[in-house]
Amino acid sequence: MEQRFEQIKQAVEVEVKYSYINIQGKTQSFSKFIYSKMKEEYKNSKNPKWKILMEYFDHYGTESLIARKRAIKRLIRVIKDELNPKKEEVTENNLPKNPSETDVCYIKGIGPKIAYKLNKLGIFTANDLMYYFPRKHIDYSNIDKISNLKEGMTTTILGYIKSTQAFNSKNGLGICKVVVQDETGSITLNFFMAKAGRYLLERVKSQFPKNSAIMVSGIVKLNSYDGKLTIDKPTYNIIETLEDENNSLNMGRIVPIYALSESLNIKTMRKAMFNCLELFKNSITNVIPDYLIKKHNLLDKKEAMCEIHFPQNMEMLERARFSLVFEELFIIQLKLLEQREKTKKELATVPLKIKEDGLVMNFIKSLPFELTSAQKHAVNEILNDLTKEEAMQRLLQGDVGSGKTVVATIFLLAGVESGYQGAMMAPTEILARQHYNNLVEWLTPMGLKVGLFLGSSGKKMRSVMEQDLINGQMHIAVGTHALIQNNVEFNNLGAIVIDEQHRFGVKQRSKLTKKSLAPQTLTMTATPIPRTLAFTLHGDLDLTIIDEMPLGRKPIKTYLKTNHREIYSLIKDEIKNGHQAYIVYPLIEESETLSAKAATKEAKRLQETVFSDYKVGLLHGKLKNDEKEEVMRKFKNKEYDILVSTTVVEVGVDVKNATVMVIENAERFGLSQLHQLRGRVGRSDLQSYCILSSSSKQPETLERLKVMEETNNGFIIAEKDLELRGPGDFLGVRQSGLPEFLIADIIKDTKTLELARYEAQNFLKEFSLDDYPNLKSAESLNSTDKDLLSA
Ligand code: ADP
Ligand code: MG
Repeated sequence: MEQRFEQIKQAVEVEVKYSYINIQGKTQSFSKFIYSKMKEEYKNSKNPKWKILMEYFDHYGTESLIARKRAIKRLIRVIKDELNPKKEEVTENNLPKNPSETDVCYIKGIGPKIAYKLNKLGIFTANDLMYYFPRKHIDYSNIDKISNLKEGMTTTILGYIKSTQAFNSKNGLGICKVVVQDETGSITLNFFMAKAGRYLLERVKSQFPKNSAIMVSGIVKLNSYDGKLTIDKPTYNIIETLEDENNSLNMGRIVPIYALSESLNIKTMRKAMFNCLELFKNSITNVIPDYLIKKHNLLDKKEAMCEIHFPQNMEMLERARFSLVFEELFIIQLKLLEQREKTKKELATVPLKIKEDGLVMNFIKSLPFELTSAQKHAVNEILNDLTKEEAMQRLLQGDVGSGKTVVATIFLLAGVESGYQGAMMAPTEILARQHYNNLVEWLTPMGLKVGLFLGSSGKKMRSVMEQDLINGQMHIAVGTHALIQNNVEFNNLGAIVIDEQHRFGVKQRSKLTKKSLAPQTLTMTATPIPRTLAFTLHGDLDLTIIDEMPLGRKPIKTYLKTNHREIYSLIKDEIKNGHQAYIVYPLIEESETLSAKAATKEAKRLQETVFSDYKVGLLHGKLKNDEKEEVMRKFKNKEYDILVSTTVVEVGVDVKNATVMVIENAERFGLSQLHQLRGRVGRSDLQSYCILSSSSKQPETLERLKVMEETNNGFIIAEKDLELRGPGDFLGVRQSGLPEFLIADIIKDTKTLELARYEAQNFLKEFSLDDYPNLKSAESLNSTDKDLLSA
């Protein structure tokens, strides 16, 4: 760097080396030093960019680590720009044409202090500002005349303050009465507060200066004492004078409300937004192809961007929102679908055709039951995929017990029939073993060889199996992560099944895929995700849903109960009939150790008291893997009547004889999780029960738990859960990966999402992205880099 910045460079280097601790130098702290340097620069150039940096380093010492890093990034960036100046000097009168290259500090109405506050909201450039959409709007366009007010009306009025009084009432309440007048009459506003001293009362009064214009919104009340109308505790807005040009943005129209930090004034924000749009609206061009704009009556992007902030009327606001939501979702779907096509082409394979009397057909005939129509549909979709030259990438979603394993087996057989090997990977040893047992039972009679690969398998056994696998003598390998280890090599892997796919990382999945030269992949999940969410989350996969249970399955009877005597007597009845029960305790304060302790204590108590005649087993996350396996094995072999556990009862574990699932403190679980747990029972033709035990009295909680009593359909429950908790909590940390939307709402905008996906599919069929450069370069609704500083 140039001489001028040499000292700054050195200081920054030290500060970064010591992890942004605002290091203390000989005479002053790092931030003070930088501040004084920035001040010098500002004095010399008068460019506001230095003033913003002064703000940054004035606050540096009290900021979070992230904010400190950001401050330093910004500093470096500004200095670099200074050393390699663009051709033209940027000033307020000579702004770059491109809003994404214009720092907000150059926009009229935004000084360095406000720029700094905007930066804290993630707004750095004019472009960021325009894409900072209102959280909502308030309609001030319909202003009522005071003489027209009636009791019970929700109203907005505009008038002058005629008089103000602030006093303590007899019953010890502080009251402020403000009389507001317009050309038709007057009305009193009442504000209430705690009893206050004279000084405070005066201060409250002074907030309503006489003759100021005021806009008031609230509900009109009738005062029973004097029969006059009042508005109690209204929201209001004092306006200096009615003629202030600024106010055309703040009153008499539909005004935007932005999410702001407390120190940023909403009027300042509106003004800045307005100026910004005035400056740059002409640089906004359409991204969506014209034929779609016409077809769906969308607004031009420029118009949509103006209307979303300052709508002329509610109808235009709706159209603007729809246009922008459509654009956002269309782009996301287009990218996902394009990615899917690309992967499919890259993984081009040999088309498979199944024979009339081959393994697949014989297997289906040999099953002791008929496939449900949902299973048949899934099988057809899969077999159809296999006849194509593109690799299958399909996600099979189906409630627990809907019979996904049979479908997966048919897929594996289709591969084997065509001379390939199959692999099936599950997230836990219990699940892998269960799949293995099923496959052995079904496939050994057909002369096929199935192997099991677990982390815990002995070395000798492993090396024999690895030999069989690479020689091609083994047809299907089932296992856990052990399958993706380097020494596991296939002779000719073709069909890959990944069970509970969300429990594997992308890397793990692709590691298995890479073991094949012609991979076809079926991923499965028992966690139902509403279609629209699945489109976004797994938009790069084809989706098949099994939405039907095998015939003869009795719906699980679910009850919400508080009385433990009743619960225990139901358990005893079922055990007397030869069945078994689960009792699940929730995670306590996110600590598996505490939960394990609680469950251990409960198991002991139940064994010694209520269930002393029966055998109680215990399963929790603090047990070692082989201990867990052992407990599950014993429960499966009926050595326990009751299994007390924390939430580690694995998804997919199949103990057909268990008919009762008791969930303690059920209110602590999300609906989808309750549904997962409930799916541990009802896995045969026996009548099963799920008891939700909760002492909660909260109406919303009980309402939520009632959903479980009302339906056994995992998709309905998932929709409800998503609606109640929002996508973040619904998916949990493990599964997120949902793109951040600027304007779309995954729950409210499902119809638009379906439409956008449909149009994106059609677009890719008919057109090439190369002919639509705007669309091709668009990564999101706001297609330019969100954070100028991350560059
Ligand atoms: P999932 O993996 O979807 O939870 P499974 O494949 O484990 O479900 O199936 C649950 C049980 O239902 C298994 O015992 C399976 O043999 C049985 N099953 C699967 N399909 C049918 C069907 N069409 N009719 C009757 N039983 C079935
Ligand atoms: Mg399963």
